[in-house]
Amino acid sequence: MTTTTHAFQAEVKQLMKLMIHSLYSNKEIFLRELVSNASDACDKLRFEALQNPDLLAEGSDFSISLSADKEAGTVTITDNGIGMSKDEVVQFLGTVASSGTREYLNAMTGDQKKDAQLIGQFGVGFYSAFVVSERVEVDSRRAGSTEAVRWSSEGTGEYTLEDSDFDQRGTRITLHLREDDKEFADAMRLRYIVKRYSDHIAVPITLAGEDGEVETINDTTALWQRPKGEIDEQQYKDLYQSMSHAMDEPLAWSHNRVEGKYEYTSLFFIPSTRPFDLYEREQRNGIKLFIQRVFVLEDKEQLLPRYLRFVRGLVDSADLPLNVSREILQSNKVVDAIRSGSVKKILGIIESMNKNDADKYVEFWNLFGAVLKEGVVEDAGNKDRIAPLLRFASTHNDNLDETVTLADYIGRMKSSQEPIYYLVGDTKEGAASSPHIEGLRAKGIEVLILGDRIDEWLVSHLQEFEGKPLRSAAQGDIDLGDDTVDEERQKQLDEQYKDLVARVQSLLSDKVDDVRLSQRLVESPSCVVAQEGAPSGYLQRMLEEAGQAMPSLKPVLEINPTHPLIVRMGVEQDKDLFKQYASLLYEQAILAEGGQLTDPAAFVKRVNQVILSVSN
Ligand code: ADP
Repeated sequence: MTTTTHAFQAEVKQLMKLMIHSLYSNKEIFLRELVSNASDACDKLRFEALQNPDLLAEGSDFSISLSADKEAGTVTITDNGIGMSKDEVVQFLGTVASSGTREYLNAMTGDQKKDAQLIGQFGVGFYSAFVVSERVEVDSRRAGSTEAVRWSSEGTGEYTLEDSDFDQRGTRITLHLREDDKEFADAMRLRYIVKRYSDHIAVPITLAGEDGEVETINDTTALWQRPKGEIDEQQYKDLYQSMSHAMDEPLAWSHNRVEGKYEYTSLFFIPSTRPFDLYEREQRNGIKLFIQRVFVLEDKEQLLPRYLRFVRGLVDSADLPLNVSREILQSNKVVDAIRSGSVKKILGIIESMNKNDADKYVEFWNLFGAVLKEGVVEDAGNKDRIAPLLRFASTHNDNLDETVTLADYIGRMKSSQEPIYYLVGDTKEGAASSPHIEGLRAKGIEVLILGDRIDEWLVSHLQEFEGKPLRSAAQGDIDLGDDTVDEERQKQLDEQYKDLVARVQSLLSDKVDDVRLSQRLVESPSCVVAQEGAPSGYLQRMLEEAGQAMPSLKPVLEINPTHPLIVRMGVEQDKDLFKQYASLLYEQAILAEGGQLTDPAAFVKRVNQVILSVSN
């Protein structure tokens, strides 16, 4: 094969540029990334060879070897793992495969400083080699093949491909260091970096010293198998970063050795940055599963429920068979036991942050609170442990920060108040200024303000907390506590507005189920509320958006007898104008709760007509 030249996918170029900017103060990470890829390559071959033992024809001892050449200014990293075919080299080193990463890159702001911070959220990888190299050569031969390929690039726009004389299975990466980074072509330096970031790698890492002597430099006994007392904080943090390809420090972690029916070790970390793919269907990172210290696979589904997908870490089992497959994991008693044990440990980490470190918990909640909420829906068995961890915005505060617990709320309830009131809107801002909560607010009754997509599901699954039912402020008739209602006055109003209510009802009969005088309105003339037991307007819209056919449930229109508009309607002689007013009462109520009008143009026309009639 002659040498051919190829262009990188646009996103790869973008990624490399960002990488160089974001890592300038932390350059040594390139070695951690390349060693980690080499170790993954060995794991992959071990795994494939379970099905196809011929792949190990050249031997089953895996190793990663490092060497430095001061004079030439080069560092090489060689592994005897799975290797790459020519097509794979083109695919893996020339394109960004994950569509999530691609979208993410496309969404970058162009502000290099900001973007550089963001890159830490999805790990760095192979391209970090260009942070210290002016040219990178990759020689690779796929296990089971006899042909090797050489990939070479200066990291600008192109790479070349040619035949390689690399005569072993696996991959060799040669870094031609930049003038300013020649310091890395030093065995002592490489040893130091490996000790710091890659000591736990199970494959032996060898280093050729200046004298030509080769020695193994990592401690292949897995860090997590050592007793907790022998591991210091920095080691945990380094392990987190190297295992998760992360640049942040973990907020908290928990390391456990479980003995009993099944034996396993688990180590879980809570990150301090939000992974960019947190809301995608599939996540890039998962929990690493080891079996008797041998890495087997990275699991994204079986070992932890989805609502804990932000957790990083590992499980090392003594009971699972080494040739375990993803299918076996799906229905396995051992896995089930590990999963429920792991959930408890992780909830334990979160509970302890909540109890012992308020600032840290705020940080945690702001990063992952909305995901943790999914647990109330997904994990009925642990609902009662998750509920006290929830934080809400509330009318008790003059901002929309999520700081109020359900217990705080109950602690402030008046003895006559039965339910915990909440209101869900498209946004917290919308909910907080909704007419639905005017009356409650005026009476000093607290309302929890919710605005996440998950919130309707959350409240419908939570239903109650410590015996107090949760109740939407946009649903059913509202009881503001019996001591606050003046029954005499109410009767008088009912009598006074009987005719008006009946007229409005007959005019709007195709849109609303009922019209009544409101207990909950103070400033607004009207609002729509769902019937007792029916989904709120907001939930109905969500279900419709999700493609669920909804029976059309007509709401109840509540009107505020103290509002000047209603007072005026009471004396309006012009029948047509009265009709326009009635329609406006309904339409503005729909708009105020974030709904859409079926005929916005008619609404606009009506508004203009009414304005003109007033000014005449
Ligand atoms: P990541 O490892 O996060 O997938 P990288 O950019 O580090 O991203 O690597 C891209 C891909 O290139 C890897 O997923 C792997 O398939 C391949 N690769 C990288 N290094 C090696 C290696 N030493 N041996 C075999 N394949 C490798």
